[in-house]
Amino acid sequence: MNLNKDIIQKNFGDNVIINENLSKYSWFNLGGPADIFFRPKNKDQLIEFIKKIRGYSYKIYVLGAGSNTLIRDSGVKGIVIKLGSKFSNIKLLEKDTIEVGAGTFDRKVSDFAKNNNISNMEFLSCIPGSIGGAITMNSGCYGSDISKILLSIKVVDLEGREKEIKNDEIKFYYRGTDLSSDYIILSAILRGNPSPKKLIEKKQEEFIKKKKRITT
Ligand SMILES: Cc1cc2nc3c(=O)[nH]c(=O)nc-3n(C[C@H](O)[C@H](O)[C@H](O)COP(=O)(O)OP(=O)(O)OC[C@H]3O[C@@H](n4cnc5c(N)ncnc54)[C@H](O)[C@@H]3O)c2cc1C
Repeated sequence: MNLNKDIIQKNFGDNVIINENLSKYSWFNLGGPADIFFRPKNKDQLIEFIKKIRGYSYKIYVLGAGSNTLIRDSGVKGIVIKLGSKFSNIKLLEKDTIEVGAGTFDRKVSDFAKNNNISNMEFLSCIPGSIGGAITMNSGCYGSDISKILLSIKVVDLEGREKEIKNDEIKFYYRGTDLSSDYIILSAILRGNPSPKKLIEKKQEEFIKKKKRITT
């Protein structure tokens, strides 16, 4: 069944762009257009969109900050959903625990943790992606990775159903997980360790320096 792009565009207004060039959403500034590019304004709109496109034979791709994604010059035949700034938020739940929107940049999370005296999230300052990408890729560096600080995630599947998944239900391996590609990660709960800001700052600076030495 073919999806009527004009109707989708009409329903979702500025949040849908037809034939949007993806190079500006890729860390490497490469890539051609997506048939349909959707940047939801919130969770409800994302679910409404998923329910609308359900049943059509369009492939769906999710994009975070695009730092681990190479897009072909010929573009993407299908729908690209990008969780951007509208899914960028951080909330302190307990003195060592935070809830983070999937579109939040990793380095923002690291800084928020530092400013709230939470350690073990320093490594996130070295990774140029979003939390959704970090979870999917089990990103990490210098002996840490996201699996070690992740308590749970909230996702929505391609039927529009919401679900919470705990850490022990996910199999993490080196730079990946067994999470179904049918899940769009909405947010995550992360737990660190209470620690003085000065120590966190020092560790974060060391990591950033080390990383710069490798990448320059
Ligand atoms: C200069 C440089 C340095 C890097 N250093 C490191 C490093 O030290 N350690 C490391 O681990 N990685 C590193 N990376 C790789 C990359 O930054 C990480 O893999 C990062 O976590 C990817 O996040 P992203 O948001 O950019 O994901 P994207 O590239 O946008 O997506 C990656 C994957 O995650 C999926 N995804 C993204 N968001 C969601 C979501 N909300 N729901 C479901 N799926 C989602 C995508 O579909 C895709 O499969 C580096 C990359 C660069 C360019």
